[in-house]
Amino acid sequence: MTTYRSAWLDDDLDALRELARSFFAKELTPNIDKFIEQHHVDRDFWTKAGALGLLCASIPEEYGGGGGTFAHEAVLIEEQAKAFDTSWGATLHSGIVAHYLLHYGTEEQKRQWLPKMAGGEVVGAIAMTEPGTGSDLQNVKTKAIRDGDEYVVNGSKTFITNGSQADLIIVVAKTDTSEGAGGISLVLVEADRPGFRRGRVLDKVGQKGQDTSELFFEDVRVPVSNLLGTQEGQGFVQLMQQLPQERLIIAVGSVAGMEAALEVTLRYTKERHAFGKPLFAFQNTKFTLAEAATETRVARVFLDDCIARHLRGELDIPTVAMAKWWTTDRAMSVADDCLQLHGGYGYMTEYPISRMWTDSRVQKIYGGTNEIMKEIIARSL
Ligand SMILES: Cc1cc2nc3c(=O)[nH]c(=O)nc-3n(C[C@H](O)[C@H](O)[C@H](O)COP(=O)(O)OP(=O)(O)OC[C@H]3O[C@@H](n4cnc5c(N)ncnc54)[C@H](O)[C@@H]3O)c2cc1C
Repeated sequence: MTTYRSAWLDDDLDALRELARSFFAKELTPNIDKFIEQHHVDRDFWTKAGALGLLCASIPEEYGGGGGTFAHEAVLIEEQAKAFDTSWGATLHSGIVAHYLLHYGTEEQKRQWLPKMAGGEVVGAIAMTEPGTGSDLQNVKTKAIRDGDEYVVNGSKTFITNGSQADLIIVVAKTDTSEGAGGISLVLVEADRPGFRRGRVLDKVGQKGQDTSELFFEDVRVPVSNLLGTQEGQGFVQLMQQLPQERLIIAVGSVAGMEAALEVTLRYTKERHAFGKPLFAFQNTKFTLAEAATETRVARVFLDDCIARHLRGELDIPTVAMAKWWTTDRAMSVADDCLQLHGGYGYMTEYPISRMWTDSRVQKIYGGTNEIMKEIIARSL
């Protein structure tokens, strides 16, 4: 196959990729079963990664980050996908939570939290979804009502990535319950505040190493300085501005997952024999993989265009919605086809393709469902 290299890559990013690959081979791959069993990575995995510069790679150096760009995050997401891991919530921590702090936090908030997040001493989460509302974010019921110099937070959240491990949670809450989107603010809640409680680590179909959890807030008091930014009512706008990067992150993981699925399936079908020849010699295998390779390449080229636009600050909301729905949809289809070519072994958890199949499914749901993505695209037509 002709080699293809993304135009946004350079020597610095290649070096970061090598570093991540060797770290994952040593610290992640041998521990994946353990992480799946305990539903989270070990805490020292975060600090080891932080010490190597694998956290907050796109946060400026003055706040303890790597001083890189979204391309640095993309390389790390790709390498984690190629390790077939979804246990480590670093993409959310570095690519999403840290960026809310960077873009909207006060200088004090940035200095307080970003260096610790870059070092892995503090794990971040963002809590938007509630039992009663997911897609319809304007309808959140969690409240952060001002009482003197404090906000009093009440409500519950569910499906929160890094939920059982997070030390710092960005909570989407209404500071003005008489308003819809305009009443929403983002409030920082530290996990050691009285009244904050973690619920179950939820039992999921896939991504079993992820500590996706319920969170409860009962009269949790935080100082008004925990408002993200300086003005109430900006939360919905902040979410809308950051969701495109979250969706691009999901697309990066999906395309890298497709590439990884293709690679392991090519290897498997060339090694395993049936009826006296390699599985790869059957026309069905070749056609299935030819189609998967084509879709993967088309996805890669589109994704690379989105990454390049994002690096230039030109990625628009409908285009990233296209990338999110289409790549996640195709990733699921490629994973299913590749699993089928593994036969019964594809259904065994010891084969990474089985994990890719179960782990990919949710990508069509989170970060805004694919139906919501199509709504966004249709509005622009
Ligand atoms: C593993 C996992 C990790 C997650 N991590 C996080 C996290 O870290 N933080 C966080 O806040 N949330 C997180 N989520 C939540 C996720 O973002 C929501 O599940 C998602 O936004 C959908 O919301 P919902 O589940 O309430 O579904 P609903 O909004 O109830 O949707 C149900 C169905 O109705 C459809 N639908 C809804 N509205 C429309 C419409 N207007 N037009 C057409 N169809 C519509 C949806 O597309 C979907 O098919 C996570 C979820 C999972 C499963």
